[in-house]
Amino acid sequence: MLYHLAKFGWTDVALVERSVLTAGSSWHAAGGIHALNGDPNMAALQAYTIDLLSQIEKESDPDIGLHITGGITVTSAPARWEWLQSAYRISQTIGIEDCHLMSPDDIKRKCPIMDTRGVIGGLWADREGYIDTTGTVQAYAGAARKLGAEVIEHNKVEALRQRPDDSWDVVTEKGTIHAEHVVNPGGTWAKQVGRMVGVDLPVSPLAHHYLVTETIPEIAALDFEVPMTVDLEGFTYMRQDQQGILVGIYELNHQHWNIDGAPWDYGFELIQEDTDRIENELVMAYQRYPVLETVGIKNWVNGAFTFSPDGNPLVGPLRGVRNYWLACAVMAGFLQGGCVGKTLAEWMIHGETEADAWPMDVARYGDFASNREYIRQTIGQFYSRRFVMTYPNEQLPAGRPMKKSPAHDAMDAAGAKWGVSWGLEVPLLFAPQGFEETPTLRRSNAFESVAEEVRAVREGVGLIDTSGFSRFEVIGAAAGEWLDEMMASKLPRPGRAKLAPMLAPSGRLKGDLTVFNWGDGTWWIMGSYYLREWHLRWFTDHLRDGVIVRDISDAIVGFALAGPKSREVLARLTHQDVSHAALPFMGCMRMDVGLLRTRVGRLSVCGELGYEINVGAAEHVSLREALLEAGAESGIREFGFYAMNSLRLEKSFGIWSAEFRQEYTPGMTGMDRWIDWSKEFRGREAALREKDGGTASKRLVTLEVDASNADASGYEPVWSDQGRVGYITSGGYGHHLQKSLAMALIDPRHATTGTELSVHVVGELRPARVIDPSPYDPAGRAMRG
Ligand SMILES: Cc1cc2nc3c(=O)[nH]c(=O)nc-3n(C[C@H](O)[C@H](O)[C@H](O)COP(=O)(O)OP(=O)(O)OC[C@H]3O[C@@H](n4cnc5c(N)ncnc54)[C@H](O)[C@@H]3O)c2cc1C
Repeated sequence: MLYHLAKFGWTDVALVERSVLTAGSSWHAAGGIHALNGDPNMAALQAYTIDLLSQIEKESDPDIGLHITGGITVTSAPARWEWLQSAYRISQTIGIEDCHLMSPDDIKRKCPIMDTRGVIGGLWADREGYIDTTGTVQAYAGAARKLGAEVIEHNKVEALRQRPDDSWDVVTEKGTIHAEHVVNPGGTWAKQVGRMVGVDLPVSPLAHHYLVTETIPEIAALDFEVPMTVDLEGFTYMRQDQQGILVGIYELNHQHWNIDGAPWDYGFELIQEDTDRIENELVMAYQRYPVLETVGIKNWVNGAFTFSPDGNPLVGPLRGVRNYWLACAVMAGFLQGGCVGKTLAEWMIHGETEADAWPMDVARYGDFASNREYIRQTIGQFYSRRFVMTYPNEQLPAGRPMKKSPAHDAMDAAGAKWGVSWGLEVPLLFAPQGFEETPTLRRSNAFESVAEEVRAVREGVGLIDTSGFSRFEVIGAAAGEWLDEMMASKLPRPGRAKLAPMLAPSGRLKGDLTVFNWGDGTWWIMGSYYLREWHLRWFTDHLRDGVIVRDISDAIVGFALAGPKSREVLARLTHQDVSHAALPFMGCMRMDVGLLRTRVGRLSVCGELGYEINVGAAEHVSLREALLEAGAESGIREFGFYAMNSLRLEKSFGIWSAEFRQEYTPGMTGMDRWIDWSKEFRGREAALREKDGGTASKRLVTLEVDASNADASGYEPVWSDQGRVGYITSGGYGHHLQKSLAMALIDPRHATTGTELSVHVVGELRPARVIDPSPYDPAGRAMRG
């Protein structure tokens, strides 16, 4: 942080350290550097840090002990081998080109001390290795000092007091510093430094072991260093340490350590090792590296470092606490520290980050994540699964169930299988009693149930719980004016809804929202449920007098009817006119439905005639009952988000985190269709530059993929005969069209309909071609009918 702030021009900046630099986790870290990460966005950010390390060494004096040995991730499980082949291709998408797959013989040659029995293969990356941790911290600090930054050691920050102008008095042992901005990079103490401004951060330390051996003759005899090695099934990582090795363990039987933050007098101590607790993983390490049987252990390290519930850092500003920034929960500081520093420095200085900061943005969590038991379960789960593959369709148990929509139990009894969005249980599909979905990278055993749900929606009528969408109410004398400035689209007239892109000043996307004008001075914004805190922070930051924005997502829930027979179902429950003339496509109105006073919007993510019916939480159960009863004679069937995904892909409707992200622009994603260029709105200037200059570097297209038993899911590279031309944003099976479909961002020169391309699906090259968008009902007759 210090280095990047100074480098980007904020040189009047100081780091205040309670003890001496490295006095937290940094001094006793294993110093391993891995290029790969299960989250492609994090891997891309890590690549920046790895590049930076050699740069820092040049800019500063201390030797950082950089050993780029290369690294191998090895597996002995067939499913993981498939995953590694897929990960290899995804690495290419994010620009990590120096990877390749390895056979057990290749692995043995690179790492002769490994017993490769049972190993199926591995994924090699050139830029992996290790560094000297203390040297690296000192080098960052030294480089920052040279740029004018200050490091103040032996000085604890005791309190943070905000002045009326939003600047801070940083009260330290040695006096008070007046600062415009404050960053919390408190590591093992981040929780306490959060409490200094009244926030409870979802961060907590766990204890972690590694061992360092004496000299190993087999290593001493080599004329090269053994690579940084991760054994996925063994839960261990290994690297060379002088003429011996260092082996670290992510054990199943994990141990939280001072869950509320380290004691203030903790510093350069270690936790007593507990080899009984890690015995199973140790046995596997001894089998994988048999030299361990014959060599002495020089050193045991059992130290603590911090994690967030998903293991990614917590970075960025906090809603409602101005000029206070987070740079904590950095689980792998030596491979992520640079990208955290760069990202936050850009954010503080420019108000925006160059790369999409979402994977580390603190706003990916809400207050719910600060619950102590949630922290205990989720962080523990992350730690123990550090090297365990999670399938895209796999549901993990930690922290669940937490939030349930009111009709949850009734849907459960009807066969709902659940996923989770921001702590809320959401139905993925409805399956026969006793059904359990098999985790897989390929099409799962849910395929047939999803096909039936899609059929019900396309041919009859389906019902889906819409509690898993966010809803914000906007009221006040200036509500319309404010929305007009925030949203790039025209605002809807009274009684209408409108798709509304929201842009940052840089012209990049900030939301794919729907705005409702209820005609009584009340507006709603609807969006993705898991973006609630992220959007609310943006709204709060840009609020003005005369506008009140309230997050009503927990108070207002609902169901949506979708399919050609949905109008007849709704008509049975209301005395009001639901004809096309009275409630046209994208219309909205208050409506009595059964005994309930509801708000209905006529829209559908499935591309069918559809109605979203919103009610208070207390009315959710009876709304479902009424709709199912009225729908019985039309053959109504409940469906879940798996079917929704298939249906929306057939319509080429993009979704956030896939087709739409904050590093994409309206021109790339087709969002510019909804922009009203005739009005002023935030981000207009930059978006107009893109439009007029035709500078969109990629274009969003729909692909038909010749896949067999697996579909594209996201980040797979797309190839032409001239090389890589783009990547998949999302994919799946279109059950109605009976085609494997995908959406992709590709070079505009290859975006013409009919262009033949190919895509890696689970590591296998598959032919694909660009097709016209919305392969189902391109004219939108079903939706508008
Ligand atoms: C056993 C072990 C092995 C590891 N292996 C690796 C690895 O191989 N690769 C890797 O990348 N990472 C590894 N890590 C993790 C790595 O150590 C951390 O990600 C990194 O050190 C976090 O750095 P930090 O600066 O965020 O936190 P810390 O190092 O904890 O630093 C926080 C600092 O804030 C100071 N501070 C806190 N509160 C105050 C206050 N009120 N006033 C003033 N100062 C304050 C503390 O004194 C401390 O120096 C390992 C960690 C351990 C323990």
